[in-house]
Amino acid sequence: MTTLESYVKGAWVAGSGDQTPLFDPTTEAQIAECGTGGIDMASVVAHARDEGGASLRRVGFAERAGWLRALSAAVHEARPQLIAASATNGGSTRGDAKFDIDGATGTLAYYAKLGASLGDGNFLPDGDGIQLGRTGRFWGQHIRTPRLGAAVHINAFNFPAWGMCEKLACSLLAGVPAISKPGAATAQVAWLTAKAIVDAGVLPEGAFQFLCGGAGDLLDHLGPQDCMAFTGSAATGARLKGHATLVGANVRVSLEADSLNAAILGPDVDDDAETWNLFLANVATDMTLKTGQKCTAVRRILVPADKVDAVVAELSARLGAVAIGNPADEAVRMGPVASPQQFEDVRKGIEALSAHARIACGGPERHGEKGFFFAPTLLVAHDPDAALLHELEVFGPCATILPYSGDAAEAIRLANRGGGGLVASLYSNDRKFTEAVVLGIAPWHGRVWIGSDKVAEQALHPGMVLPMTIHGGPGRAGGGEELGGLFGLELYTQRTALQGDQGFVGRRFGGASAES
Ligand code: NAP
Repeated sequence: MTTLESYVKGAWVAGSGDQTPLFDPTTEAQIAECGTGGIDMASVVAHARDEGGASLRRVGFAERAGWLRALSAAVHEARPQLIAASATNGGSTRGDAKFDIDGATGTLAYYAKLGASLGDGNFLPDGDGIQLGRTGRFWGQHIRTPRLGAAVHINAFNFPAWGMCEKLACSLLAGVPAISKPGAATAQVAWLTAKAIVDAGVLPEGAFQFLCGGAGDLLDHLGPQDCMAFTGSAATGARLKGHATLVGANVRVSLEADSLNAAILGPDVDDDAETWNLFLANVATDMTLKTGQKCTAVRRILVPADKVDAVVAELSARLGAVAIGNPADEAVRMGPVASPQQFEDVRKGIEALSAHARIACGGPERHGEKGFFFAPTLLVAHDPDAALLHELEVFGPCATILPYSGDAAEAIRLANRGGGGLVASLYSNDRKFTEAVVLGIAPWHGRVWIGSDKVAEQALHPGMVLPMTIHGGPGRAGGGEELGGLFGLELYTQRTALQGDQGFVGRRFGGASAES
């Protein structure tokens, strides 16, 4: 059995004391353990700030961008080991694993390219200059500079490589050192990714540390220039946001939490439209990719009442055809959920939903004899307004059809009952319906994905998070905004308004690109 180590203060160390077990969800056997007992968290934070931060800020955006490019290549190099570990310590098929790993390398590469365009400086002009006085002599300009603290990155179990690397890309490019903590259940993939990052040998000492296990009293040591970027459940996020030190010291916090993402089928879409097939294909993919363990997976499917029977028949047929089994088998399309805890949570979740909905396919029972397997589970709500259907995120291959009248107003009301979402997908060729729904749901969603006949051939599916557009959402989705090009650097930089002589403020600090 492997003991996974942490990388702190320039060395790999095994934690002492209690260890967290990691499982192979196909065989249910324990395969590894990890823990952070004995690690002095105060000195980890100090090391990041004093060594890592200082070294990162000694160079500018372009040089840090070069490091990101090298990290992308290093993680790509480790792809075969990462794919194998994703199967044994996550239940991921090859396709699922690639979604995570290629997402990680792609995001690092994207920020490398963006960073190269920012020049050699360490500040960014933010917006245009502003005339403040009677004439243009007295001038204003906003700029962004790297904050002087450490970034704590706490990640969820479902994207061990992408979750770590997308946060790292923004943090390092901004010039802020990272202390990265993976979700314990799939920490082996995160550990291998961390090894690739350290072994690449490009980052200055202290720029990246990796805590493989519990966070201990890490958060107690953060201060006003530090930040915490958290990804995980809404319940854990809310608990951490209220941490006394984070509140007392005004530590910046970004939460990426859970979301009952809605897919909305427009009343105009008939079964001979390309959009109909796009809708069915995307919903089936979303429910089964990564065994439904995606924060962006569709959980609520709004279908006009007169189309529910047709959708149930076609979707059930697609879901029933998905090959379930050992993810190492190339013919398999869906593996088990990742851990014993997940298995228990999903089982209980489907049972709870079925008090308000009939099960059209799948169910809460184990699929097969052994392992944490479920069949894809589609439910149809008795009453689309039942509160639980808008509150309970079942983090597995499970979604519920909510029949609605076909009115834009009702679609908006039901979609927004999720209380804040990462992404809502909308399928319609009716521009009036689409516009009404977009404007009605946008305040409650970080991203609205619009599918129509026009984009059916080209559209990437809505579950896919792209580094050039924002990831995050209001309300229960956490209120965070990660990625989105330069938006992704906001957590790590301080915006300051400069006011003074245009000849100095405007020329020295304004402009389209950063200067040294
Ligand atoms: P979780 O149980 O909330 O845990 C998330 C992270 O918080 C883990 O690393 C966990 O560590 C850590 N944690 C728990 N208690 C902590 C504490 N007191 N101090 C510091 N860290 C603490 O979530 P999960 O089960 O890993 O992930 C699934 C959830 O994440 C789902 O709800 C999903 O929707 C959400 N998610 C959201 C996004 C997004 O971008 N919005 C992306 C992926 C997943 P341990 O694992 O060691 O307990």
